Amino acid sequence: MIHDTTKPDVTLPGKSTWNYHPNLPLEDQSLFNLKRGPILGLKVLWNSWLPISDRLIVVGVSFLTWFYLSPSLETARSFAFGWIAGVYLRNLALMVLVAGGMHLYLYTFKRQGNHLRYDARPFHKKNALYKFNSQFLDNVYWSIASGATIWTAYDVLGLWAYANGYAPMLSFSEHPVWCVLWFVLLPIYGVFHFYWIHRLLHWGPIYDKVHSLHHRNVNVGPWSGMSMHPVEHVIYLSSVLIHLVIPSHPIHFIFQLQQKVLLAITSHGGYEAITGGEDSDAGLKVGDFFHQLHHRYFECNYGEPEVPCDKWFGTFHDGTEEATARTRARLKAMRIK
Ligand SMILES: [Zn+2]
Ligand SMILES: [Zn+2]
Repeated sequence: MIHDTTKPDVTLPGKSTWNYHPNLPLEDQSLFNLKRGPILGLKVLWNSWLPISDRLIVVGVSFLTWFYLSPSLETARSFAFGWIAGVYLRNLALMVLVAGGMHLYLYTFKRQGNHLRYDARPFHKKNALYKFNSQFLDNVYWSIASGATIWTAYDVLGLWAYANGYAPMLSFSEHPVWCVLWFVLLPIYGVFHFYWIHRLLHWGPIYDKVHSLHHRNVNVGPWSGMSMHPVEHVIYLSSVLIHLVIPSHPIHFIFQLQQKVLLAITSHGGYEAITGGEDSDAGLKVGDFFHQLHHRYFECNYGEPEVPCDKWFGTFHDGTEEATARTRARLKAMRIK
């Protein structure tokens, strides 16, 4: 018998582990897989954006935000309460719209039931681990009190920096190709940044004081995505500091912050996709099983699949039982040290 090397011998998790999971072992989504060749590589990239994706929607939102919901650079030249409050309210409204809307649809009205839901266990309601003894209220509190505030602080500093020439500006009319390319390249850079800051956040003292707050959520929902300690918000969103170095337009800057915030919310939604209902498979892919595995098993999948740092550095969990055993052994060895 010829052994089929394309299908490794793997044990898949049982129904009791996950209510739903995508095809396992997880498919290779890496943009850096050179064996695949450039054409297939471009196809993976193309499929991650088109015909519709949550990040393409965020590109649209960032254009609308710049043209209709942002102060002019003239106004942003000096700090003033009025426009800063406007940016804060705008960000708060966006956060409540996306996280609140998803929570209502998926968890309050249960419009999809458990269809495409990764982990069907309910959120904690009477648990002293959480602020107000409730996982939901705890998540809302940290997302709004810290998340929306620090997001706004970065937004305000960025607009002020563009307005005063501290951030190099790129115009759409003079550099249209670069302006389009940045939308593609910035999320890739964002994943690379996330992998390294996330490894830092898992370092003993920082984990205990800071990142453990996000990890209270083993089962996650939309409000868990931005439920972080203020120090983590500062570190997580620091990827935007790259705009102080690379020439870009404020729309790119707004886009990078919005995709960091809004896609953290959607990817923690707990569902693979938002569909029209329990019987429908057609919908918008939002979930991130790769990161859901991180919340369940901790010492694995620090990054995202497009930039396979986890594969390069041996922390990849592909969803199989063998990967769970490897991760548990690594966690045990780390605790013994
Ligand atoms: Zn983590
Ligand atoms: Zn998370």
